[in-house]
Amino acid sequence: MASILDDAVAKFKNNLKYYSEKDNSFSLTDFDLKSMTIPSKTISVNFPLKTSKGFKIFHAYRVHFNTERGPAKGGIRYHSKVDLDEVSALSLWMSLKNALMNLPYGGGKGGIEINPKEYSDQDIEKISREFVRQMHLIIGPETDIPAPDVYTNPQIMAWMSDEYNKIKGKKVPAAFTGKPISAGGSEARSYSTAMGGFYVLKKAAEEYKIPKNATIAIQGFGNAGRNFAEIASKQGYNIIAVSDSKGGIYNKDGLNIEKLIKHKRTQPVSTFPGKRISNEELLETDVDVLVPAALENVITEKNANKIKAKIILELANGPISEKADEILFKRKIIVLPDILANAGGVTVSYFEWLQNKKNQHWKETKVLKNLEERMSETFKILFNDYVQKFNVSFRIAAYAHAAKRIIKAKKKAEGCIE
Ligand code: NAD
Repeated sequence: MASILDDAVAKFKNNLKYYSEKDNSFSLTDFDLKSMTIPSKTISVNFPLKTSKGFKIFHAYRVHFNTERGPAKGGIRYHSKVDLDEVSALSLWMSLKNALMNLPYGGGKGGIEINPKEYSDQDIEKISREFVRQMHLIIGPETDIPAPDVYTNPQIMAWMSDEYNKIKGKKVPAAFTGKPISAGGSEARSYSTAMGGFYVLKKAAEEYKIPKNATIAIQGFGNAGRNFAEIASKQGYNIIAVSDSKGGIYNKDGLNIEKLIKHKRTQPVSTFPGKRISNEELLETDVDVLVPAALENVITEKNANKIKAKIILELANGPISEKADEILFKRKIIVLPDILANAGGVTVSYFEWLQNKKNQHWKETKVLKNLEERMSETFKILFNDYVQKFNVSFRIAAYAHAAKRIIKAKKKAEGCIE
């Protein structure tokens, strides 16, 4: 079976190769590329625990990439498919995202191979605390700062942070982010991924003349998709299609998002009034903006020619395959890539870390102002210095910009440049 890390590295290298053909001043040696794409630290642990389902052995991982820019930063995932390969690929992407956003971090990612739905809350607390006991030597505000990811949440971060404090014998809130506000979390962290994506869309809409009441289709109605729907509809956008794992719903005149959010608390979105559509149909809906906010690889060479949106905002990680990317670029569809579009979460995690280190608590307005500045600034750099100048996609621009920052930090660390 193909390795997820190998695929991620190949995609990264292919995009940089394409960019170096356009920009003569950009050149990376094979050594540069190699050093950027191998993990700097890999930890695997196996621990037995007594749970309500009896004695079980758990496999857990933590991987660091490109830590010359700062401590490793990235989430911890609980999923039955978690393995070292997946965690490594996710950690590489985190190093690119953190460099792109100019956050003083390398990449980090961790996970436990577990189906959390099979365990009680008490079990999850016990497993989460044990993860920290196993990993505490590499975790810390200046070495590795975990956060929530798939099937982990603020409560799990609170347990982990508490366990870490007990081990260290003092309060170290900056060792974990994505905590509940009562445990040192930041305002706006819960919806920061969607908010960051919205700020990126706002800038793209200005440049590409997308009207304020533009139509949007959203795949996925979880943390990223639901919050994005709420934010965009409040700002006047017209959400005409959304879906979840059970299928989608369409209304050409616009869906009432407030009512849909209430509906989703007890039922799938597809039972909301409107026309039922499949997830495939949702992706091909005639809209101005398409927002994949669920799974990887949903737009491939099979359906890339059928996409009608003018802009695709990737809130999900990796929703577009490499081949589809090329087709969309040729069709002049603007793709705002995951490492930019969904970077609002880690950016507010950075603000949380700063607040914890300085013993501050910022108001929501301050968090949002700082988030908008950083997302808009990054969009502007990619748009002006790469997309317009060299006629490349935003993904290639994002990879090239992140790579430049990482290489610069590596050379500085080696004393090669001032
Ligand atoms: P979530 O679990 O809260 O929601 C996922 C949604 O996708 C659910 O509504 C689910 O029903 C839907 N879904 C699942 N299978 C589907 C299918 N086959 N077709 C359509 N919809 C389907 O997850 P989330 O936190 O919203 O994350 C969604 C994506 O965004 C993931 O790729 C994640 O890595 C990415 N992301 C999330 C954050 C964040 O802060 N939440 C940050 C960065 C990236």
